[in-house]
Amino acid sequence: MQVYKAPIDDLRFVFEALDYPGRVAALADFADFDLDTVMEIAAQAGKFAAKELLPLNRIGDQQGVQWDPETKAVKTADGFPALLRKFRDNGFTGIAQPVEWGGGGGPHSLGLIFGELATSTNKSFSMCPGLTNGLIDALLAYGTDEQKQYYLPKLVTGEWSGTMCLTEPQCGTDLGLVATRAEPTADGDGYLLTGNKIWITFGEHDMTDNIVHLVLARLPDAPEGIRGISTFVVPKFLEDGTRNPIFCTGLEHKLGIHASPTCVMSLEGARGWLVGEPHRGMKSMFVMMNHARLTVGQEGIAYGEIAYQTALAFAKDRRQSRSLDPKKQEVDQKADNILVHPDVRRMLLNVKASTEAMRALLFHVAMHLDASHHHPDEAERVRSSDLVALLTPVVKAWTTERGFLNVSEAMQVMGGSGYTTDWSVEQYLRDSRIAMIYEGTNHIQALDLVGRKLPMGGGRLMKTFAAEVTSFIKANADTPAMGEFLGPLKAASKELSELTMQLAMKGMADPEEAGAVASNYLTVFGLTAGAYMMARMAAYALTREDRQARAKLKTARYYLHNILPETKSLIAIIGAGKAHMMDFDADEL
Ligand SMILES: Cc1cc2nc3c(=O)[nH]c(=O)nc-3n(C[C@H](O)[C@H](O)[C@H](O)COP(=O)(O)OP(=O)(O)OC[C@H]3O[C@@H](n4cnc5c(N)ncnc54)[C@H](O)[C@@H]3O)c2cc1C
Repeated sequence: MQVYKAPIDDLRFVFEALDYPGRVAALADFADFDLDTVMEIAAQAGKFAAKELLPLNRIGDQQGVQWDPETKAVKTADGFPALLRKFRDNGFTGIAQPVEWGGGGGPHSLGLIFGELATSTNKSFSMCPGLTNGLIDALLAYGTDEQKQYYLPKLVTGEWSGTMCLTEPQCGTDLGLVATRAEPTADGDGYLLTGNKIWITFGEHDMTDNIVHLVLARLPDAPEGIRGISTFVVPKFLEDGTRNPIFCTGLEHKLGIHASPTCVMSLEGARGWLVGEPHRGMKSMFVMMNHARLTVGQEGIAYGEIAYQTALAFAKDRRQSRSLDPKKQEVDQKADNILVHPDVRRMLLNVKASTEAMRALLFHVAMHLDASHHHPDEAERVRSSDLVALLTPVVKAWTTERGFLNVSEAMQVMGGSGYTTDWSVEQYLRDSRIAMIYEGTNHIQALDLVGRKLPMGGGRLMKTFAAEVTSFIKANADTPAMGEFLGPLKAASKELSELTMQLAMKGMADPEEAGAVASNYLTVFGLTAGAYMMARMAAYALTREDRQARAKLKTARYYLHNILPETKSLIAIIGAGKAHMMDFDADEL
């Protein structure tokens, strides 16, 4: 059984509480996207997701994808190609891409609403348009005019799809080990690429007329390591219709996202064209990956949401045992509804409160992303860009890890029914696990936060974040009803600042110390940023008196008292540092 209703009410609440009208709709480029318009589009997309994407989610999981060794073609599950056509016809593919290339011209904040709805209802499917959007961003930033003219119109409308070809058998996290070669062609038109890529999502499929690959490779004069990598655009079919020799030579069999083909790709002298400068390929790839990191981060929110809705529907119906409080026992029934048990509520509220905090954080980052590109004031663009850079690894890693735990917690609410295929939560558990691994493993996000983002500009990014939180606290300090929310936020922010200082000092003296604690530090950061979001939700809720606002205040209290204190144990573990990890010899592990 599949249970899902797009969380438009909560999205609207978040957009109001975070002042979408003042921060994004007020920007000249988004004058057509006021709050009501955005929510109307979101509601339509939500209906489409529930009606069209969700029913194919189970089918895709069961059928998977088939590879034909003769033709090297990949057949996707029944209904998937037609679903992409419908998705396209509704104008959903390029909703947040520029109008000049055929897109909807909407803000990233709107694009990410689509991301959540599509991920909740059919992650495997959503990866095809999702990766295409990443490629579009890379071409917009670094493509030549000719490349833009040729590729963008078809990619933006979704007639063609995109991939990201980084990984090779010997090179996953360490992209400096890329070995695929690019030799200049004899006719001077582009390069011929030779090598093997693995685990390429939608590297081959039958859903679009052409597939455009963004490939990392080395030029003949490339220096060793990460500084010798260049990026190339390599289409499956060339302009004259001939087949470019980039073939799928097999598919991976994997735990989840069965309907998303994970392809082994062989480049056998495939013609490609340089995107951006020679040897500076990581720059263009990072544009694609930054977009992808936010959408991958969203997976934790999307799965938490659908798993929560499923567990709640189950719990409202299930009767087992008696309430511990005799007054709550329904004596005319043989047993009480399981919502009377505090532990069932604990689990449900862990999922609900953390999902709502993470959703608010993601859209806070999305609104800064829009401002970083479109705000008229350069200082504001820089401020927003700093916050996006700082918070993107936090969103990617904290939400995917928590999201996976949330699906597990929702399964626990449902007892054995959650573990069976009857309610689909077991599929969500399998499907959500990958988000912690791809787009840079979660630990690599933590190293990015600690090793790159914190030191950047002498700590400027962290100072910008701390200043934003402090100014929110100050602005609300005179509202007595905010006291209960600001107290825990103030304490957590102070602890995060102290922890950051200690980490900077220890990490400078011994980088292994930073590596040992980076993952836990990122979680403390996420929990604290979540507290800031829940306090902002509370501040807005206090201006209203309806049921949703009352529930939000309760959810904020739950988050601040029942989830935020997890930082305490993490801070204690961080204090232990590397000592008891690194004192093992390899043969003692
Ligand atoms: C389903 C699926 C889809 C994928 N889609 C794509 C795709 O479309 N395109 C693409 O290019 N790739 C894709 N990938 C590959 C994915 O991005 C990699 O799996 C990921 O980057 C990790 O690389 P790896 O698996 O080689 O792990 P490794 O790099 O071997 O890492 C193994 C472990 O070591 C840790 N580790 C590595 N280096 C360090 C370090 N410096 N410090 C501390 N710890 C470290 C890692 O965190 C991890 O825990 C996909 C993978 C899967 C499974």
